[in-house]
Amino acid sequence: MKERLLSPVFKTEDDQIENSLRPRKLINFIGQTKIKESLHIFIKAAQSREETLDHILLSGPPGLGKTTLAGIIANELNVNISITSGPAIERPGDLAAILTNLSAGDVLFIDEIHRLSRPVEEIFYPAMEDFALDIIIGKGPGARSLRLNLPPFTLIGATTRAGLLTSPLRDRFGIIGHLDYYQQSELVQIIHRAAAILKIPVDLEGAAEIANRSRGTPRVCLRLLKRVRDYVQVKAAGVITGEIAKEALQFFEVDSLGLDYTDRKILRLIIEKFTGGPVGLDTLAAATGEEKDTIEDVYEPYLLQAGLLNRTPRGRVATSLAYKHLKLAEPKLFME
Ligand code: ADP
Repeated sequence: MKERLLSPVFKTEDDQIENSLRPRKLINFIGQTKIKESLHIFIKAAQSREETLDHILLSGPPGLGKTTLAGIIANELNVNISITSGPAIERPGDLAAILTNLSAGDVLFIDEIHRLSRPVEEIFYPAMEDFALDIIIGKGPGARSLRLNLPPFTLIGATTRAGLLTSPLRDRFGIIGHLDYYQQSELVQIIHRAAAILKIPVDLEGAAEIANRSRGTPRVCLRLLKRVRDYVQVKAAGVITGEIAKEALQFFEVDSLGLDYTDRKILRLIIEKFTGGPVGLDTLAAATGEEKDTIEDVYEPYLLQAGLLNRTPRGRVATSLAYKHLKLAEPKLFME
């Protein structure tokens, strides 16, 4: 399958560079002012009371900085961070092993926390609330429950869809923050910061051109920056200017709104096969050959945010803007 240049999801080959670009201090984390200011207050307050920071839930689309923020919080608190993900903790025993290895005050980061299995989630409740694990020893009538005390820790849960968390789990987080797509000017700053670290010469217009097509997502803008650098190295040599960035991004088929082949395929399908919609998610997934979850987590949020798609109770509908963007004639009776 063709690798998706605009994918906001982690790619292993980019891991190392991505890690080197992660800001380590709150002050270097660009944008998301509201959540940053709140975190600053909570961190300082916990430190001055010498208490463990309350559990934090971070929600928002992939690539917006949830993992980065978790790393920053641990760094600001001067504690260790253990990183895992919901699907990786398969059995309650896995969770017990992780929790008993923590030191007092540590941060435990669980990505995709909405994908924790039910039995794991249930033993998590007392761990979050009382820093205790209830372990069942033995089976049948002779089984006994043993309570194991844990060091106090801060859980940072990340999720692309807060709505999928069960309410008992969500209620156990003291701090809940939502990350939004970034403004163009913030992405420009992120590009300049990364370009300085990676020693990539890029001017203002070049950065703006990349930012415009980055779907409001730092991970996407960093990936585009690297691909444009490759293009420039081979084709032009020198500084990434607006003109050369545009040329490179056109070459990579990233259009002026930052849509790629699959985004356009989704919109085109809705318009051409289903007369603009509404189309149910199952039908859309079958027709595009994409997973339902991928459509909901990765493609749809940006298409909604860009005003190209609407979600109605009867399904997904292409907007007037989608017709215009794809240069397709809108039917006369079209209603948004
Ligand atoms: P998520 O966990 O939400 O999927 P990450 O934290 O892994 O996203 O961020 C993806 C990349 O984007 C990282 O390389 C990180 O350095 C960069 N990044 C994200 N948010 C910011 C930001 N606010 N300022 C600077 N770089 C950022």
